[in-house]
Amino acid sequence: MTNLVTNVAAAVEAHGDNTAIGFQGSDTSYEEFWGQTGAFATALEERGLGEDDRVALYLPNVPPFLIAFHGTLRAGGVVVPMNPQYKAREIGHLLDDSGAKVVVALADLVPFVDEVRDETDVEHVVSIGGDAEGATPFEEFLEPGDPEITERDDDDDAVQPYTSGTTGQPKGVQLTHGNLASNANAASKLIPDGIRPDDKTLGVLPLFHIYGMTVVMNASLFNGATYYPMASWDAQEAVSLIEDEALTIMHGVPAMYNDVINQPDAETFDMSSLRLCGVGGSGIPVEVLRQFEELYEPKIYEGYGLTETSPITHFNSPIEGRRVGSIGKTVPGVDSKVVTESFDEVPPTEEGPVDEEDVELHEITGEIVVAGPNVMKGYYGLPEANEEAFTEEGGRRWFHTGDIGYRDEDGFFYVVDREKHMIVTGGYNVYPREVEELLFEHPDVADAAVAGIPDERRGETIKAFIVRTPDGDVTEEEIKEYCLTNLAEYKHPREVEFVQELPRTTTGKVQKFKLREQNGGTAGDE
Ligand code: AMP
Repeated sequence: MTNLVTNVAAAVEAHGDNTAIGFQGSDTSYEEFWGQTGAFATALEERGLGEDDRVALYLPNVPPFLIAFHGTLRAGGVVVPMNPQYKAREIGHLLDDSGAKVVVALADLVPFVDEVRDETDVEHVVSIGGDAEGATPFEEFLEPGDPEITERDDDDDAVQPYTSGTTGQPKGVQLTHGNLASNANAASKLIPDGIRPDDKTLGVLPLFHIYGMTVVMNASLFNGATYYPMASWDAQEAVSLIEDEALTIMHGVPAMYNDVINQPDAETFDMSSLRLCGVGGSGIPVEVLRQFEELYEPKIYEGYGLTETSPITHFNSPIEGRRVGSIGKTVPGVDSKVVTESFDEVPPTEEGPVDEEDVELHEITGEIVVAGPNVMKGYYGLPEANEEAFTEEGGRRWFHTGDIGYRDEDGFFYVVDREKHMIVTGGYNVYPREVEELLFEHPDVADAAVAGIPDERRGETIKAFIVRTPDGDVTEEEIKEYCLTNLAEYKHPREVEFVQELPRTTTGKVQKFKLREQNGGTAGDE
């Protein structure tokens, strides 16, 4: 049995005195943490809740998230994480669809729950960080107790995050104990000696998102390491925490690393305590990685995954080696290949990233599909979406990632772009990522995104959205000229807009649908 909770219980047994959570100068030991999860599990059980009941967490990264998460699982329940940036309308769908009976929310967010409560099965609202009308404060909700861990099998549901799809409402992703425990264990073994009890992890990736939940929080808790929650991203604060506590593991999205190197005092930061810097969620521009490594000792290791795959499927690791620009090799236990629309395997390219000058990308790329113990049971209550998401072949259940990429002979995979981000302009296919990589190399560019906007003549035309560096003064004409000199003519942006910042999700993805929407396109999706 691979239960998410038994893995943590083993860490409590082996490292009870270690600090599990370090938050704003106060430490919680593994023993204490275990006691708190017992009190949360008891609170649920005494209210007649337990197996398969959904408990929604509407919280930023604060210690009660970890307590409610593992307390719910200990009672046999299922966690529904919700982005604390969501408003009433957005959580209404999640609560209704999941049938959540309990919501643990930041006090300030309780009014949003109240707005939709009538349309849901919510029985209890628990508030964190203050009182709120209609809610029980967290401390009052807890009940003393040390219950047995409820038995859960590998294929019993554990967490149900929501992910936005191409159409309609966000879909619930059924992740089982087997999915999540196998992936947190795989994530634990990506550095030499694995994650150790003396490791200290920066907990800035949001816990409601699968990357922060599995690769950062659970991998830390499975191994007796210390998790340092940060409720929101701030480059200066994150760096101070790394320096003051001598953190050893950092995972971030590319925008965070880009933010660090763009701080005015970036060259004074001491990052030498970090023995792993991981990045994922979207591709890190090669130039950002290069600049970071010029400034600091640690190297950045890029990985790849999706909510549906718990998440990590590919990783560049200090053990397996890395190739800059690649998402790495498949992690142990996971299989992956690149397929055509008719599910024929696309043969690997020669070693290393291809030179995009010489190769037409569409000739060597296909959709990346994956199979393994980390792949979700399915979308909750959506048989048609499941039909589309999987292909049965060779006795395996392959999940379609929707990402276009290729694989080289050494087993390194490369993501070219999201299938749905591809721009078709005048009959040519252009992957925005390729143009973005070039823009990041320009000294006056601090951040950049490229999207297709409607154009009568070409169908779509390429537009670049650029954040200039503080003293950058590059002009629209110069950007166009720069792209024309370095790329095939049809790939250059015909329009350039300078912006203060790019719209991003809390997990660092540029919200291209917003850029398209603001430019006369249909929203589509991300
Ligand atoms: P999510 O379900 O929010 O985790 O988003 C999953 C998507 O993030 C994938 O399908 C990719 O499009 C994107 N993604 C994650 N990691 C990478 C990466 N290293 N390079 C490019 N895209 C990535």
